[in-house]
Amino acid sequence: MFAAILIDRGDTGPRVALTNVDEATLPEGDVTVEVAYSTLNYKDALAITGKSPVVRAFPMVPGIDLAGVVTESRHPDWSVGDDVILNGWGVGESHWGGLAQRARLNGDWLVPRPAEFTARQAMAIGTAGYTASLCVEALWHHGVRPDHGEILVTGATGGVGSVAIALLSKAGFRVAAATGKTTETDYLRQLGAGTVVERGELAERGKPLQKERWAGVIDTVGSHTLANACAQTRYGGAVAACGLAQGMDFPATVAPFILRGVTLFGVDSVLAPKRRRLDAWARLARDLAPAVLDGIAQEIPLGEAISAADRLIDGAVRGRIVVDVHR
Ligand code: NDP
Repeated sequence: MFAAILIDRGDTGPRVALTNVDEATLPEGDVTVEVAYSTLNYKDALAITGKSPVVRAFPMVPGIDLAGVVTESRHPDWSVGDDVILNGWGVGESHWGGLAQRARLNGDWLVPRPAEFTARQAMAIGTAGYTASLCVEALWHHGVRPDHGEILVTGATGGVGSVAIALLSKAGFRVAAATGKTTETDYLRQLGAGTVVERGELAERGKPLQKERWAGVIDTVGSHTLANACAQTRYGGAVAACGLAQGMDFPATVAPFILRGVTLFGVDSVLAPKRRRLDAWARLARDLAPAVLDGIAQEIPLGEAISAADRLIDGAVRGRIVVDVHR
């Protein structure tokens, strides 16, 4: 038996509990992992609270991320004792996930844990941090460089935003952090933000083209914020869009794209191919000092993941939540 958070169908919504699960009920897979740490991402909070139908099979163990050690393998890439990370691939949505002490997975989904990080630190990064890295990679490959100007990061105190600021700052960029939590200005400056922008400045409908301010943007909130960010991006700049914390809508015009040559990159972490994952983790290993993670992450025991999900949905959490699945 092993401990897990289990989501089942209830009469009025999902029924979620910390429970003991029989190892024989683990799903199909060619690699079994003893999970050390997991995390709580926005998507996990949606699954646990039932605020959005992200769970596609019941019962489900949530948790789109895990870090642990291989205990059984029939996959050519993995041996017993290997330190591995999993991010996405529908785990925690359609295949049992990381908020448990044990997981059985497809070995193709795993990446090696970089030696620079402990399992706990890898989960302080989690899908949020790995997505931030995918976004930085998108801007970098577009040709955005530190001498081109400031980069805007929205949803700045969130998991993606926090890691994005740290990565950009380490790579030499000047960063403007847009936040609704202006009381967290010191936190954002410590991560490397030079300017703090009040979230409200970007949250309402704006003009199709506005003063050119940003060489690049990493947007985690969507809706009017993304539209305004595109309208404020400099000629030839790029915007990496990965989130929808404000909304899934995109009430914009094509003006920034056809008159300023702005490029909008969509960033998906779930099905990103292995090469991109390895590049994103290599950037994290190179540019994210483990000490920075201590300031970003807070740790909770497995059972607390249920109540923490509500706080995350309310936007009340700063940075990242790491889950010790053995506590
Ligand atoms: P968090 O909940 O940690 O952070 C989201 C942040 O967005 C909040 O901290 C808050 O920051 C800001 N925010 C919240 N509500 C609003 C609002 N109504 N209007 C504007 N800003 C708001 O989430 P993550 O950082 O983990 O994820 C961010 C987004 O990215 C989510 O939508 C998530 O689903 C998405 N995502 C997408 C991935 C992909 O593969 N494309 C992978 C990972 C995440 P502040 O108070 O500083 O403004």
